[in-house]
Amino acid sequence: MSGSIHARQGLLLVLNAGSSSIKFSVFEVEPGGAPQERFGGQVEGIGGAARFTVKSSDGEPVGEHAWPEGVTVDHEQALHQIDDWLNAHLQGRAFLACSHRVVHGGLKHAAPVLIDDAVLTELEALCPLAPLHQPHNLAPIRAMRARLPNLPQIACFDTAFHRGQSEVVQQFALPRAITEAGVRRYGFHGLSYEYIASVLPQVHPRLANARVIVAHLGNGASLCAMQGGRSLASTMGFSALDGLAMGTRCGALDPGVVFHLLREMRLSPEQVEHMLYHDSGLLGMSGVSNDMRALRARATEPQVRQALDIYVHRIVREIGSMAAVLGGLDALIFTAGIGEHGVDTRAEVLQGCRWLGLELDAERNAASAACITRGDPAETPSAWVVPTDEEGMLARHALDVLARTA
Ligand code: ADP
Repeated sequence: MSGSIHARQGLLLVLNAGSSSIKFSVFEVEPGGAPQERFGGQVEGIGGAARFTVKSSDGEPVGEHAWPEGVTVDHEQALHQIDDWLNAHLQGRAFLACSHRVVHGGLKHAAPVLIDDAVLTELEALCPLAPLHQPHNLAPIRAMRARLPNLPQIACFDTAFHRGQSEVVQQFALPRAITEAGVRRYGFHGLSYEYIASVLPQVHPRLANARVIVAHLGNGASLCAMQGGRSLASTMGFSALDGLAMGTRCGALDPGVVFHLLREMRLSPEQVEHMLYHDSGLLGMSGVSNDMRALRARATEPQVRQALDIYVHRIVREIGSMAAVLGGLDALIFTAGIGEHGVDTRAEVLQGCRWLGLELDAERNAASAACITRGDPAETPSAWVVPTDEEGMLARHALDVLARTA
């Protein structure tokens, strides 16, 4: 777990590069202290009409740029824009390190790692395991190595937190040779889960060693069964498609459906992949939007109502599955956009989890209070709202890796 004592002072850059956006944060580090976020921004809409925005830590807009209509912005240009803004606003201060979110660390990486040529080659070899994400994560690493060869760069993996799961949990019921070729459950959202695990003892002392399910409900969504700061199981598996229904992703699907789409409905593999990643989930079911706020505003429309019901039903079912792994449940934690703000979704999920002993406190839920169930959390199962902080986790990891490798 991170949080070692360090004597560093300076700035850390955190990058989270996806297929259509690059998010970045700048953290200030004082000797012995936790990194404090100064700025956070992003270029969104890469590949189309892109927009650059930056906010200070108190939410004030401090930078903005929109490219002219018809101009298509690629990742390289987006990175340039971020670089230009940083150069103009950091008064020549250099970074101690840059910490990158990388989706896949494979079987080997159970912890963040300082990037060198050998590590980069290893991570590139993992691209076939996450072809839609890994190449986008690695491109800025390569670009920054070319620009600033002496800047320490650190890779933090979404899979790492789940590496300690038992073999029984990790393996599919597939022929052994396929498992040995790397086709197994990896799990994702690990930086979010690791952050939540790190703050659970402060949320309530009972939670430190309790049987906990964390529901990370953002655009992507998954559950993690954890105890004592360790991941025991997760709903995401080989890819970020498995498990819960999401904004645009289908979640768990009978593999026979894929054969049907390919053979009988004559879709190409690329069309099926696009459908399962981008046209399914809340968007596909509702025909309206992938955005939970937009759907809740139209929840009286039958198709939207049904999409919301299916979304919640799948969460409740999978909570049952995670509770089985844990042998019961002491606490359920809601986090990420929908988990932190989706009052109705939380209420509906808790309604479906009464059999686990969770009793919704409607007032506390409406106020997004920390604990949103009735009863004494030291005595009865409880549910909580805990904001996640993946960027903060990336910054803490960078400091730890610097301390380890100094
Ligand atoms: P990402 O996975 O892209 O980081 P977020 O964690 O930001 O996504 O979650 C985005 C989701 O959170 C969207 O579906 C959005 O509608 C939902 N969300 C954000 N604020 C609210 C709110 N006040 N009520 C309900 N849902 C919300």
